[in-house]
Amino acid sequence: STRRPVDINRVINAALVILANKIKKSTDLFNCTLSAGLPPIMGHSQKIEQVIINLLINALQALPHRQAGVSLTTSLQESPRSVVIKIRDQGTGIPEEIRGRILDPFFTTKHKTGGTGLGLSICYAIINDHKGSIDFASEAGAGTTVTVVLPVL
Ligand code: ADP
Ligand code: MG
Repeated sequence: STRRPVDINRVINAALVILANKIKKSTDLFNCTLSAGLPPIMGHSQKIEQVIINLLINALQALPHRQAGVSLTTSLQESPRSVVIKIRDQGTGIPEEIRGRILDPFFTTKHKTGGTGLGLSICYAIINDHKGSIDFASEAGAGTTVTVVLPVL
């Protein structure tokens, strides 16, 4: 389908409206800092919204208690000119031994709570379709930072 100019900050605000109650239930420390004046990317706003929602839900689900926070930021990167979205959580972290598998469809550690294991595989497919990248930096016990880079095409 046709790509359109997408304002990432608008998409994030739409995702935050959808997740407002879930965020309130999960943490006392949620912070969103959006960079003003970002250029639009060319793409599919609904799909990018799905990416943000999936990543935020993972972040919230990783929190061990309400005083562990989540922050979301956007920024502009030059060469290649891209919009960068970072979602940081002070959650459990991603154990080293599963890092190679988290993007696989149906891989989940949430068997007790009925995780589908589809969230990150869907994120990966959507980000690839936008010629972007997704990276995870994680430390056991300290938390995880997910960085999504979407080129301004
Ligand atoms: P699901 O959330 O249904 O388990 P995902 O594809 O979204 O499936 O994530 C796969 C697995 O990656 C999760 O089960 C979890 O073990 C790990 N994971 C993803 N995001 C995080 C995070 N922010 N902190 C800790 N673990 C994470
Ligand atoms: Mg998930």
